[in-house]
Amino acid sequence: MADNRVSIVRYETPYESVKKAVDLCGGLDHLPAKAKVFIKPNIVFWTKACEFPKWGVITTSRVMADMIRLLKDRGIDDITIGEGIVSDPKDKETPAHAFETLGYNKLGQKYGVKTVAIMERPFEEVDLGDGISLKFNTDILNSDFVVDLPPMKTHNQTVVSLGIKNLKGTIDIPSRKKCHSADPEKNLHFHVARLADKMPPVFTLIDGIYTLERGPAFDGKMHRSNLLVASPDILSADLVGSRLLGHDPSEVSHLVYAAQNRGRPTDLSDVEVVGEKIEDVASYHQNDVSYCQEETREMPVPLARQGIDGIFYRKFDDTMCTYCSGLNGLVLTAIRYAWNGDPWDNVEVLTGKSMEPTPGMKATILLGQCMYKKNKDHPDIQKMIAVKGCPPNPKNVVKALHEAGIEVDPNLFEQAASLPGFFMAKYQDRPEFEESFFRVE
Ligand code: SF4
Repeated sequence: MADNRVSIVRYETPYESVKKAVDLCGGLDHLPAKAKVFIKPNIVFWTKACEFPKWGVITTSRVMADMIRLLKDRGIDDITIGEGIVSDPKDKETPAHAFETLGYNKLGQKYGVKTVAIMERPFEEVDLGDGISLKFNTDILNSDFVVDLPPMKTHNQTVVSLGIKNLKGTIDIPSRKKCHSADPEKNLHFHVARLADKMPPVFTLIDGIYTLERGPAFDGKMHRSNLLVASPDILSADLVGSRLLGHDPSEVSHLVYAAQNRGRPTDLSDVEVVGEKIEDVASYHQNDVSYCQEETREMPVPLARQGIDGIFYRKFDDTMCTYCSGLNGLVLTAIRYAWNGDPWDNVEVLTGKSMEPTPGMKATILLGQCMYKKNKDHPDIQKMIAVKGCPPNPKNVVKALHEAGIEVDPNLFEQAASLPGFFMAKYQDRPEFEESFFRVE
């Protein structure tokens, strides 16, 4: 069976649908007997503080449990689930809470599956060529076979986040920062494209029971799509997944690089699709919020619609890494609530590692130590308000915004862990959004 075969299956029944997706593409044909298998779900975000929407954000426990049962049916006993949830590296409670809530401990009792919090495990440096090296989790590198289980989602920096991008959760924090490099050539996409290159054989099953627009997190728009996409070839799975989300892979930079590195096209001409037809089940998923760029303001369109003026919150770029990204949405929410109808006085907010100040601004907030280091002596800054630190301390962010005349509510930052819970309201009274998909009975 060709390795570039990709199955597309409608999710209908527990276990049977996953089995069909796996069997149609021959996904476990190369699974060695008695293999040590590492399963990589996607738990991009977690909080112990509240229940939050997980549909399309996090791999369903339904697909996880079905996949484990299939592996057990094939006589596999050594199975490890591993994920590198981003929290304070010293925080062991958040990953443990995630694994318990998602039912992974029950899977442990039932099937003898182990779980590892990647941030608590050793890493090994891996040379990915062209001067790039990243540190990967030792458990995945030393397994015999990887089962990659990403949810089917779009991403505001990488357009889509599927099989290859999901492996970013297996590298350490300094490597994640390295991926968001300010080098215009060896950029985020260049790094992400290589994440699967030195892995053991990978089987990819994209969990599209729920799909996500404007991902990667809980503030995106979730859909019940009932799709499963599977392939023994990770790039083929991602090319098909991208098309299903309405994005031509030739416009997804990390897929273009990954294809080039393998001497393959992005047009699916060497991919055999079995099961459902792409055109019958694809639906366009927007990958990012639109931005308003006008003479007196720059900000996401929803804020501009509110009438907010006098602030230039520059559109974040690919160089902004995980910790700053997590803070970015909160800062924008706080600005939204702080607006009282009076325009602010030409305040510019810069993020990531590459941005430069615009001449004529009255105040420039440099968010994060990268921005401070880059622009601290910049001649175009009239009044510099720096929030040093990596990640920037939320209290200092509040102070900086106040200094710029933006009276954000400090309570929003203090209660940040509970804010994701407010997004649950969007999915209330919509029975297709079932929390039970994230439990193991
Ligand atoms: S300050 Fe922000 S952008 Fe810079 S390395 Fe830290 S998290 Fe990344």
